[in-house]
This record gives sequence, structure tokens and C-alpha cells, in this order.
Amino acid sequence: MTDLATRSIDRTALLPVALRNDFPILSEEVGDHQPLAFLDNAASTQRPRQVIDALSGVYERTYANVHRGIHTLSELSTEQYETARHRVQRLINARQLHEVIFTSGTTASINTVARSWGDANLRAGDEVLLSVMEHHSNLVPWQQTAERTGAVLRHIPLTDDGRLDMEAFERLLTDRTKLVAVTAVSNTLGTINPVAEIIAKAHAAGALVLIDAAQSVPHLAVDVQALDVDFLAFSGHKMLGPSGVGVLYGKEALLDAMPPFLGGGSMINEVKLSSFTPAALPAKFEAGTPPIVPAIGMSAAIDYLQSVGLDAIHRHESELTRYAYDALSQIEGLRILGPAPEHRAGLVSFAFDRIHAHEFAQVLNDQFGVAVRAGHHCTQPLHAHLGIAASTRASFYLYNTLEEVDRLIEGVLAVQRMFAPQGRQRKRRKPDE
Ligand code: PMP
Repeated sequence: MTDLATRSIDRTALLPVALRNDFPILSEEVGDHQPLAFLDNAASTQRPRQVIDALSGVYERTYANVHRGIHTLSELSTEQYETARHRVQRLINARQLHEVIFTSGTTASINTVARSWGDANLRAGDEVLLSVMEHHSNLVPWQQTAERTGAVLRHIPLTDDGRLDMEAFERLLTDRTKLVAVTAVSNTLGTINPVAEIIAKAHAAGALVLIDAAQSVPHLAVDVQALDVDFLAFSGHKMLGPSGVGVLYGKEALLDAMPPFLGGGSMINEVKLSSFTPAALPAKFEAGTPPIVPAIGMSAAIDYLQSVGLDAIHRHESELTRYAYDALSQIEGLRILGPAPEHRAGLVSFAFDRIHAHEFAQVLNDQFGVAVRAGHHCTQPLHAHLGIAASTRASFYLYNTLEEVDRLIEGVLAVQRMFAPQGRQRKRRKPDE
């Protein structure tokens, strides 16, 4: 263990290292023959054998297009695809099965709301309230909607430690606010936002709420009915599932009233040469051949996550995050972005004045086998607000270990020695520390 960590570890909070055996890719070597330490989970996670087997099982035994085929394989595929919808419904506790729409991911889900609900409901002067910490996929679709409708975008500012400024939020919430669209967890700062409070206050002001749950559903239990959230978006590939599938949850009455966004097969009730009538939910928002196999894979991923337990996963990640935060905060010249560990999910982003994030990522990968992300993480406005162009992000999941965090710390110290040899490595302790 690194001697930079100053606080003791609660080993009872950690998940068994043996579950790594479920993830074949984790025994790969990367860089200069280093065992892989995969700390890029906020970008995309790895898949357990159970998910890989579910995917190949479909291709080997049951695959066909869904819904319309009157033959055995189409019926089997349809049943598996609709079972996946049930699994998602149970995971987020949606009241109705048809409130779960399969999309290609969080980005597609948010775009669906921005195009469909936004174009139908927003008028010039109406306001959409976002935040400074949003991912580009919860900024750009609203910028596009604002261009089309004349709606005005406002942004909740951040506190100095990278949390939403809730007093400013309340000031910005007016009778002009039609929608509040914020992330549950920042993919750059790690901040866990008080979404229940945001939803309650937005509703009291007459606004709807969309939650970008790309970084929360994979790591924290989310109950859409308890939250009373109007729209929720997340992605399969960030929760042990395949890429190419995601979910848009919406309240039935809202989805029912919204026009379809993409047109084509499956989303219709009847088509004539010059007109169509849309299908009922959820088909109305699932035009074309849906992500059949990815959705079935996502279903297997949900089974896996629930067998481990989201609360246990959260405890594990919190412990690793605290350990990493604690050690990184001892390193001279390193700036950790975002709040103290008690306000953050399982990731730590940091920046050095004199060393570019790409240098970190390269050396960490090549010499230490540690995969991290370097860049703006699709949060350019947030980085601009922080006064930096890029940062390095280590993000954890259920299969990461203390030993991997140690390698991260060792790697960061090595980069610091390499690129800033004159610098001290540790912060000087104040006399009373
Ligand atoms: N929102 C957040 C907070 C994210 O972290 C991401 C993925 N980095 C997205 C949205 C977009 O997800 P996807 O690329 O799967 O559409």
C-alpha cells in the first residue's frame, strides 16, 4: 500500500477480488507487458463472462429480428428483448413496462427528449435550466433545440468545491423554467448531485426534470418513482453491458403526448403514401430494428450487477475513491477536481500545472499498465470554468482493487519525477497537520 494514504482502509467495504475472474479482459497485459489496471470505467466498462456468453448465445441459438416474425427464432428473440425491458423496468422501478424505451445510449435518449418534447413544448423565451458540469450530450441537444425554438438556456453555477450551487439554482428557477436537465453524477468531478431535491423544487416551480443518469444507474440504486423524475437517460456500456444500447425512461403521460422523433419501421400503427399514425409506446420511440442483441446483453449485465448488489458496489467504489483521493491529495502540485470524497462517486480527476494530461495517460499505460482517460471528458465548458484545458481521470468499478490504485499513485509520482524533476513530490505538511 502507498505510504501517501493517511487514513486506514475499511477492508470490509471491499468486494472479493475473486469476482475479477468473471472478467476475461482483466487478465490482459497492456503497454510494456504490464498487467491491465482498467481505471477508465466512466468512459466505458468491461463485460463479465455472463454478458459475453449471453451475447454469443443469442448469435449461436436464437437470433432473428424482433416483433413481426411468425417463426420460432423471431419469437425467441422478441421474448428475450422484451425480458430485457422488464429487467430495466425492475432496475429503475418504472411503473409501466412501456415507460422503458431502448435507444442507442444516453446521447440518443437526451436527443429524443430535446427533439420530441423540446420542439413540441418549448416556445421563444421559455427557459431550460442546465448546469456548468454537464456532459456535452446534455448541452448540445439543448443548444440545438434552443436554436429551433427560441428557448433560452440557463446554467446552474458551481460552488468552489465543484458542487451545484443550490441557492443559485433556486434563484434561476422561475415560472419561465420549463425543464431542468442535469446530471446525477458528474463524469469529470465525480460530484453526486442532490437530484431528489432538484426534482422536488423544479416540480414546485412547475418545471419538468430530465436526469442524465449515465454515471449513476451503473453505480447507485435509482428509483424513478421515488424520485418522481420525468425523464431519465443512461447507457448499457457503462454498466457492464454492450455498447449500442441505452435507455430513455419517461413518464407514460409525457411520452404518450410526445410526437415520435425518428420515423421508419416499427414506430407506426398505419402508413399511407402521404401520412402515418404512430404506434403505441414503447414502439413509437423505437423506429427501425432496435438494438436487439445489445439489449439482451444489457439484461445479463443488470442480472450480474444485481447479484453483486448496487449498494455493495457503491461501498466498494467509495472506499477506493477515498483511498485514491487521500493519496493524490498529498502530491505536490496536483490539483484534484471536484468535492471531498463524501460528496463524490467512484472517480477522481486531477491536473498538474506543468504536465499535460496526455503525458500522464501515456506513461501510466505504457509503464504501469494503468488505463485512465486524459482530455476534457466531453465537458469543455466545465474545464473552461476550472481554467484548464484537460485533466486526467481515474474511474473505478466493482472489479478494481487497492493494488490498482497503488499503481496509479506510483505512476503519478513517476510522471511527476519525469516531467517536473525539480518539484517536490509530497506536499509540505503544515506544522499542525
Ligand atoms: N452523460 C454523462 C454524464 C456521461 O458520462 C456520458 C458518457 N461519457 C454521456 C452522457 C454520454 O453517454 P453515451 O456516450 O453512452 O451516449
